Amino acid sequence: MDKQRSNPSGQARSETSRRSLPLRTIVQGFFLALTVLIGVQFTIFAWQLRHGTGPTVGRPPGVEAFLPISSVISLRYWLLTGVFNRIHPAGFVLLLIIGSVSLLLKRGFCSWVCPFGLLGDCLEKVHRALFRRRLSLPRFLDYPLRSLKYLLLLFFVWAIFVRMDVLQLERFIASPYNRVADLMMLRFFAPPSRTTVVVLAVLTALTLAVPFFWCRYLCPYGARLGGRSLLSPFKIRRDPDQCITCKRCSAVCPARIPVHRAYSVRSDECHACLRCVQACPVAQTLTLSLPGRRTPVSPRRYAAALILAFLLGTSGARLAGHWHNAIPEREYRLHVAQMGHPAYQHNRGTVPDYDLGELGLQDAGAAVDGTP
Ligand code: SF4
Ligand code: SF4
Repeated sequence: MDKQRSNPSGQARSETSRRSLPLRTIVQGFFLALTVLIGVQFTIFAWQLRHGTGPTVGRPPGVEAFLPISSVISLRYWLLTGVFNRIHPAGFVLLLIIGSVSLLLKRGFCSWVCPFGLLGDCLEKVHRALFRRRLSLPRFLDYPLRSLKYLLLLFFVWAIFVRMDVLQLERFIASPYNRVADLMMLRFFAPPSRTTVVVLAVLTALTLAVPFFWCRYLCPYGARLGGRSLLSPFKIRRDPDQCITCKRCSAVCPARIPVHRAYSVRSDECHACLRCVQACPVAQTLTLSLPGRRTPVSPRRYAAALILAFLLGTSGARLAGHWHNAIPEREYRLHVAQMGHPAYQHNRGTVPDYDLGELGLQDAGAAVDGTP
């Protein structure tokens, strides 16, 4: 018997799914707008500093989301000393929020929040328009390439968690380089150097040829979240008694997971995008749920939970005084005036010897130990 036709609720479910399809795009658009807003505000802040005309706008703390190495170093320092340093506290807070969300709600950050996830979605659409189907690498290339992002992650874990002791962590956190890591990052992109342009062009071309190339093979942040997401009690779960083996779930899965064969999806590559859930034509057959298919989470609830986690986490950090950094404007002016100094260099996670007093930053050390 055709189970799809015998299940009127399945028909209704399918229509509901089609109507709710843009939900993830709306959420991604919201976070992209937030990112652009932060980027514009920070660019104005940096431009005014450089030209001595202000700044009349504040530095947006959210920019620290783009300083993952500094944030992981803060995490290690906090684990060893219990001190929440005040150089880039917002980056550390966001690292904690994203890590906690992945433990409970899988890798939703990648497909609902991260601007690179949205870019990957857009490039996948262009890919399908160009090639009329989704091309992918053969398994013998796919498996070793997928391990690349874990190797990158292992390198960072080794460099920060194994190689650096408390003194080295403290030296990095207090260094002139780290204090202006956000301004350094902006210099990398605006204006972009030839190397930046070439790297971005190659990554874009690779992602056009193989959808989600960056996310699937290279992103160490995705590797971190993928490993954690395996611990999440929520999984994509299939009811084999209701399933009509139409394979729509597998066809839409950007992670190339054979969802139609799984009882529950236990893959580090699952982004919790819920495309499979929305594509399934039979109601309650494929759900993001707890063991026993209890507490199924609809895309709407999932989106609400993600947004709530960010709202509560960042609001809590503001209230606790762990959101704005302790670098005053006059210190930023000093940095901007002397950023060509060798003390601002950085080589693969290590900073050169520096003397804060020589740079006119003798009062700047206090922010590292969390004191005002
Ligand atoms: S299994 Fe489903 S939720 Fe996971 S990546 Fe594939 S389509 Fe998205
Ligand atoms: S679980 Fe997958 S294969 Fe089964 S009915 Fe749903 S979309 Fe079709």
